[in-house]
Amino acid sequence: MNIIDVKTGTINSKRDIIVNGNTITSIIEHNNRNYKAETIIDGSKKYLIPGLIDTHAHPFLPLQSSLAQFTHFGVTSILVPGGSSFNSDTFSDLRKRSMDNINASPRVKHTSPIFTMRGAHPVKTYTNNKWIDGETIIYIKDSLQIKSVIKELSKTEIIGIKVIIEDGPAPPYVDRIPQHYLNLIVEESRAYGLPVFAHVSDIEEVYMAEKADVQNIMHFVGVDIDWKDDIDLINKIIKKDISWATTLMIDKSFLYPLHPEWLNVTDIVKVYGKDSLNSLITPEQIKFSKEFLNILKIDYNIENPNLENLIIPQVEDLMILYEKGCNITIGTDNGNDFILSGYSVHEEMQLMELGGFKPKDILKMATHNGAKMLNEIDKLGTIEEGKFADLILLNKNPLESIKHTLTIDKVIKNGVVQKRIDNK
Ligand SMILES: [Zn+2]
Repeated sequence: MNIIDVKTGTINSKRDIIVNGNTITSIIEHNNRNYKAETIIDGSKKYLIPGLIDTHAHPFLPLQSSLAQFTHFGVTSILVPGGSSFNSDTFSDLRKRSMDNINASPRVKHTSPIFTMRGAHPVKTYTNNKWIDGETIIYIKDSLQIKSVIKELSKTEIIGIKVIIEDGPAPPYVDRIPQHYLNLIVEESRAYGLPVFAHVSDIEEVYMAEKADVQNIMHFVGVDIDWKDDIDLINKIIKKDISWATTLMIDKSFLYPLHPEWLNVTDIVKVYGKDSLNSLITPEQIKFSKEFLNILKIDYNIENPNLENLIIPQVEDLMILYEKGCNITIGTDNGNDFILSGYSVHEEMQLMELGGFKPKDILKMATHNGAKMLNEIDKLGTIEEGKFADLILLNKNPLESIKHTLTIDKVIKNGVVQKRIDNK
């Protein structure tokens, strides 16, 4: 079997891998010896990569079908950064399912509910979602409240605090969180060992995030880096080793209604069903997509707005960031329309390839770098002795084309071959 080292982007060929329980115990030269093992998987001529990690996912309800879809597509870990359907009950349900070895599910890590101001994003800007103070959202009131809420949250099974900086997706813009509250949230969280995951939508908000000393930035869409004016900011981000989740799929999702052919792909029809895919596109969404194209033309001066013209300039910026050493991770913002559980990770990776990234770098972002953001690098993200056996066996070499990550033969999570979906 060919084992891919995602850190170097190289192949170790003719290797055998021994898994005991949920852990990789050894990786050895292939020797045709008859192993006395409970299960032997023949991976000859195949390629083994670590399970993929979606660092920004809000699984659809019902949870189990969404989780099974992630697994089907080889996504063995996800980070759920809150959301309007995620309160302490759904979080605990997610954690329970994530350790289930029979019903397929990725490992699930999650943040706190979303910290924001009353009258700010996303409550004021996305009115069709229902938000409940103290459950799915935490309205910031004053310094004392911030301190006491973070203290309480530190006793729960969160991996960090999620905070919104964004001023909204379109005019009329709402107020951003005041800088001093953002600073305090980071300071208090750090006292309990909790990193902060900051949601941004433009470069101003990246300045605020860096100033407050956050450890993770969510979303690259909308962030337009001026490589002259913003270079000090970028250098600080690199120096502080801030992780950054991409979520370029948000832009692709806005174009989806005008591209029904994107849904007519064998890989996804089999998993999500033709009828449910066809029902995704509504006349209102087609109207919205056309308006989006108009905004790009008029406000952003993109003469011929399409997927390539929208994505390539962003990936070009990401490539400079990556070269400078930024821990860029693959995140999708699954849970929004057209950002399908599991499959969208492959789409996000393909967008990175479309913009010029080499498959080896994309693979590293979707595995190693994601594990680093989750603070699980000693257990996940690479194929090494002592790590969890979260693996995907592929029929084709993903270093040749990132599209080959869809040629999945088997998905293994926690040492167990996972059931994949076969709806036909
Ligand atoms: Zn999100």
